[in-house]
Formats: sequence, structure tokens, C-alpha cells
Amino acid sequence: MSEELLVVGAGPAGMAAALAAHRLGATVTVLDENTRPGGQIYRQPLTAEALSARGSDPKARAGQAMVDAFTEAGIRYVPETVCWGASPPRRVQVFTEGPGTRDIHARSVILATGAYERPVPFPGWTLPGVMTAGGAQVFLKSQGIVPGRRFLLAGSGPLQFALAAQLVKAGARVEAVVDVTRPWSRQTLAGLPGLAAYPAVIREAAGLIKTLTRARVPVIWGAGMRRALGTTQVEVAEIGGVDGDWRPTGDRVRRFTVDTVCLGYGFVPSTELATLLRCELRHDLFAGGWVPSKAETMETSQELVYAAGDGSGIGGSVVAELEGEIAGISAALRLGYGRGDEEVLLRRAKLQATLRRMRRFTRALGRVMTPKEGVGEWLTGETVVCRCEEVRDSDIRAAIDQGACGLRGVKLRTRAGMGLCQARMCAPAIAAAYGEAFGGGPAAPPRPQIPIKPVGGHVLL
Ligand SMILES: Cc1cc2nc3c(=O)[nH]c(=O)nc-3n(C[C@H](O)[C@H](O)[C@H](O)COP(=O)(O)OP(=O)(O)OC[C@H]3O[C@@H](n4cnc5c(N)ncnc54)[C@H](O)[C@@H]3O)c2cc1C
Repeated sequence: MSEELLVVGAGPAGMAAALAAHRLGATVTVLDENTRPGGQIYRQPLTAEALSARGSDPKARAGQAMVDAFTEAGIRYVPETVCWGASPPRRVQVFTEGPGTRDIHARSVILATGAYERPVPFPGWTLPGVMTAGGAQVFLKSQGIVPGRRFLLAGSGPLQFALAAQLVKAGARVEAVVDVTRPWSRQTLAGLPGLAAYPAVIREAAGLIKTLTRARVPVIWGAGMRRALGTTQVEVAEIGGVDGDWRPTGDRVRRFTVDTVCLGYGFVPSTELATLLRCELRHDLFAGGWVPSKAETMETSQELVYAAGDGSGIGGSVVAELEGEIAGISAALRLGYGRGDEEVLLRRAKLQATLRRMRRFTRALGRVMTPKEGVGEWLTGETVVCRCEEVRDSDIRAAIDQGACGLRGVKLRTRAGMGLCQARMCAPAIAAAYGEAFGGGPAAPPRPQIPIKPVGGHVLL
């Protein structure tokens, strides 16, 4: 099967890319593992409860306008379809329930695959009731379900504030929002000029904090998770102070009686398809780790393969949309559409200039949000670090003592990272927690194995 322009992912980046290329006349097909377009941020309600819970939130309205424009444009959208493999130059393997597996060759590919949430292990993080902030949002946005009664939210950065406001609106009790950042610290103040590059986000964050203040939700700065305690489910969350390197300080520990803990310690770009297509990767800690190298047109090192949005470096939804449109225009131009149209080139140049400004903001945010080496001290020997293979901190430390270096060395000695998630969860955690023991520097680039995701309810062999 062959396609002219294949877009993987229908979040803001994928939708913007598809719309831009479609407007210029390219034949676009969008593959998406979700049921509806929207991606993470504009995740569509699947039930009447979710629709009414969404209410008239202005961000959701703006997202809906984009989803409507995408849906009404007549672009071929193929939902519930997982891209589970890829090979150079532009071949992609996909699975849809029913037709099964297909092999697609595309003249051009735009990867807009988004990101994963970054886990930061601590004692008790595997207890039922401890989930990621994004996981809780899926319940809220798709199903209209509040996944608990008494919440504690812990993390770094804006997502947990957004979630707290959504939970309050849905009637949940939020005991506290706990953020590792110290807004008054030298590190944070040094990032202020960058953060000021995009005042709308600062205003949005201030609005969220105001909502929480009105709802009497305490916001505790400069603190992180110590433990989650419970027998069959989390019952108590313990938090304590952390320093600028996220190292636990001797401050007193505070306990909260809760049944749900939501964690939001940032994101890791989803680069599996880019890696399988042999796009060159580079390490950018504040953009989430390994990301595909790309030009200002969003073209990767692999000809006619473009990467946009969080999957090519964490930047948030506004950056994702900008990059998506640039990628869509660039791919269409390369395919021969809109050539010689001055307005198209002007539009792309304007988007690129806005993007450069936005990147100053997202880098400053990344600097604040990215876990620091002190997270290694959040672990006790018994803490599970690799959930798939149930490898504990003590196993990893023993392997390091025996000379294991980097994720690969640890993996060979302990099986950490060999499970179903292919190290998506534990690799960033291991790099952050044991990086110093490995002598610093970035972890080895990811080496995804196909199928990169479980498909059809089981893994293809
Ligand atoms: C869990 C989560 C919750 C978030 N919540 C908020 C929030 O409340 N507020 C906020 O401002 N920002 C939030 N963000 C950040 C924001 O959603 C992103 O910055 C933005 O959505 C990035 O857009 P994107 O198009 O790059 O990726 P996404 O919106 O993540 O879209 C990626 C798309 O690619 C699809 N996909 C990925 N891999 C494959 C594959 N192999 N095969 C087929 N399809 C695939 C996914 O199904 C998804 O539709 C959240 C991010 C995450 C990960």
C-alpha cells in the first residue's frame, strides 16, 4: 500500500500538519491509535458525562475548533490504528483491529507522536491509587470519571496545576498540590527572562493558582514525594522538602490521608518511529532527552521524514501546533504543492520566527521541570524501579557496584528495561537516579524493538 503524505498522530502537531498540507493540495492520511482526533491535550469526550464535565473551558473550546476544522476538512483519518514498526526510508507497519496488519510506503512521513509521562520512582509508587497526572486526565476527559475521592498531586510544572483545577471543578477534594520547584530559588529566577517570552502561559498558570486558592487547595513549593503508604491501596502520602537538585532535605515530613496520588514530573518524547526510520537523534536534556535532529523546516536527517510536536522535543501544545503547521507546509512544498507561492513561504517564515521565541520559553520551563540527580535519593533499596521486570533499587545498585555502566549494563545484569514497555518507563528514571554513578552524561540512545507497542490486545511476534 502506498500513500503520498502519511501523518502519524492526531494531536495538535499532527492535525496542524495535516491541515496545512491538505490546504496546499497534498493527499494526506492520518493514522492515530486514539479513537478520536485531539491527542493528549484535546482528548475528546467519549461519554455524555465527560462532555458535560468539560463545560465551557476556553482552552477546550479552542481545541474543539481545531478538531472540528480537522474533521470537516475531508482529510483521511484512520483511528484506532497503531504504528508498531517502521523501516527506512519511509515504510511503516500498522495494525487496525479487523483489517489487521498493513505495510505502508509513503512518499513523505510526518511523525507527530507526542510524549510519555516521566515516572519518578519513590517508595510506594506502585501501589494502586498512585497514577500519573495524564492518566487521571484520561479518566476525566474521556469518561467524565473522577478516579478517586481525596487527591494529592505531586510533580514539577504546569500539568499538575491544570489537573488540580479540573479535579476541583469536577467536585473532587484536592488535599494539596506539591511542586519540587522553589519559585524564589536562584535557578528559577535565572529562568525568568525565558519564561517571560510567553506571558500568556504565565497568565494561564496564575489563573490556575487563583482557582486553587479560591478552592482552598494548598500549594506546597520545594517539596517532593517521600512515600505512599497503604495495604491494598494508597492511604497516606508523605511529602518532604527537596533542595535545588531535588535531594531530600532534613525538613519535617508531612502526611496526607488520601486515596489517590497523581504524579506529573514532566515528559519524555516518543521517538521510537524516528529511531526505527534511522533519523539521527541528539540528546537535549531540557527537551526531554533523546530527540530527532531536525532543520527549521522540521525535516529530520532522513529525507522527506519530518518530526513535529512533543515527539521531537517537549514544547507543549502551542509549540506542537506551530511545528505541525511548519512540517505540513514543508512536506507539501517538497511534494510539489504550493511551490512559487510567496504567501506560503511568508507564512512559514512567520511561524518559524514565532517558534524561535516560544522555544526560549519552553527551554526555560524544561530547565525547571527536568528531574535533577537528587531523585536517586528518593529511593530505598526495596523500591521497584523497573515495574515490568520488578527490578529494585538494591538490584541496580548491586549491578553498578559490579561494574554495570549505563542502562545497557544495568539491563544485562538485572533485566531492568527488558519488559513490555521496552524501558520507556524505567530508562528515564534510571538515567536520572543513577546518572552520577555512571559518571554523568546522557544515557545511551533508545533502541526500540518491533513491535514498539502491544497491538490487538496482545503483542505481535
Ligand atoms: C498524558 C498527557 C497529559 C497532558 N495534559 C495537558 C494539559 O492538561 N494541559 C496542557 O497544556 N498540556 C498537557 N499535556 C501536554 C500537551 O498535551 C502536549 O504538549 C501536546 O498535546 C503535544 O501535542 P502533540 O501533537 O505533539 O502530541 P499529542 O497530543 O500527545 O498527540 C500524539 C498523538 O500521536 C498518537 N500516537 C503516538 N504514537 C503512535 C503510534 N505509534 N501509532 C499511532 N498513533 C500514535 C497518539 O495517539 C496521539 O493522538 C499533556 C501531555 C500528556 C502526555
